[in-house]
Amino acid sequence: GFFRANRIAKLSVSEIIKISTRARELRAEGKPVIILGAGEPDFDTPEHVKQAGIAAINAGQTKYTPLDGTPELKQAICDKLSRENELDYQPANISVSAGAKQVLFNAFMATINPGDEVIIPTPFWTTYADIVEVCGGEPVLVKCPGEKGFRLQADQLEAAITPKTKWLMLNSPSNPSGAAYSAEELKPLLAVLARNPHVWLVCDDIYEHITYDDFEFVTPAQLAPELRDRILVVNGVSKSHAMTGWRIGYGAGPVELIKAMAVMQSQSTSCASSVSQAAAIEALNGDNSFLEERRLSFQERRDLVVAGLNEIDGVTCRVPEGAFYTFASCEGLIGKTTPSGKTIESDSDFCRYILEESHVAIVPGSAFGLSPYFRISYAAAKSELVEAISRIQKAASALT
Ligand code: PLP
Repeated sequence: GFFRANRIAKLSVSEIIKISTRARELRAEGKPVIILGAGEPDFDTPEHVKQAGIAAINAGQTKYTPLDGTPELKQAICDKLSRENELDYQPANISVSAGAKQVLFNAFMATINPGDEVIIPTPFWTTYADIVEVCGGEPVLVKCPGEKGFRLQADQLEAAITPKTKWLMLNSPSNPSGAAYSAEELKPLLAVLARNPHVWLVCDDIYEHITYDDFEFVTPAQLAPELRDRILVVNGVSKSHAMTGWRIGYGAGPVELIKAMAVMQSQSTSCASSVSQAAAIEALNGDNSFLEERRLSFQERRDLVVAGLNEIDGVTCRVPEGAFYTFASCEGLIGKTTPSGKTIESDSDFCRYILEESHVAIVPGSAFGLSPYFRISYAAAKSELVEAISRIQKAASALT
């Protein structure tokens, strides 16, 4: 019908949205629902960043900006990439969009033709595959289970590459697994890319500042300068600075790609919000000492959730290196029976049971392409997490 263009026919309403809808219904019925599905920090945007936005409004910075970013913001991004990632980019290498999501959208729209393949290690942030589909491309999903640390292995990459491969999509730390790649783990993958000059690499570094223990974040372009002319680095302020609603993300890459992305953007949003761009400059250049405190707060909550999940018979949870998600296996609960006599046949069944019985909203691995797992976002108050874990423990032990 009228509302089904071919390009969206392959997309469906995400499982996450279905779960949130049901969670809100239960809440409306008065149930004490705890939602651990959100993909955003529970912190507020830092005060100095908010003030920069307000100052921009008062200074009249309320008009269209240059297509893919103000010169000031592009410079601040170059400075950030140089200071934090040892990457030497010029403003012409930078593209600013309404969130990291639009950066990815522009990049794929600008480069993918029908039949082109994009290799996506699984589990993955659903948007990757959906954007590739919208562009008429083929997502090539490569399963990376927990035993392998949810990380793509070089031999898997080698086997997945075909003459039609256009991009490899890496996300470290990852949504949903929280897994991150060390320099040693990236090197073999970069060696495969070096041997396959037709394959480009997107790295989604959006969770860069949220890593734990002694994990050292490194972005592939830093390790392989010789591959930089086919790498798109994607990052933004949404997660690091709790600025999800401001909608600012950026890409850094070869000038020709950046130009093509600007053409896409010129016919969609024209530019990211002028006010948000001004605030993002302050986020990048300003005092970032608050990041450490927030990182430690997330780490404490990660430890609490991982320990609580591992106490459950039939559940195993790997300790994630970053982001604010756990991705635990519920393999040991598949085949069990609920008190009302239903069989848990899948991770979706398990998550539905937890929502209906315990009123805790969590997302099944199937929503991210890998089962049987479930994702918990621990960007929530500690008291809520303690309560949620105790309810999940109770519901799991009621299975027979
Ligand atoms: N990349 C990953 C892996 C994410 O999980 C998300 C948000 O959930 C984004 C990108 C989106 O970032 P933005 O809000 O800047 O579009």
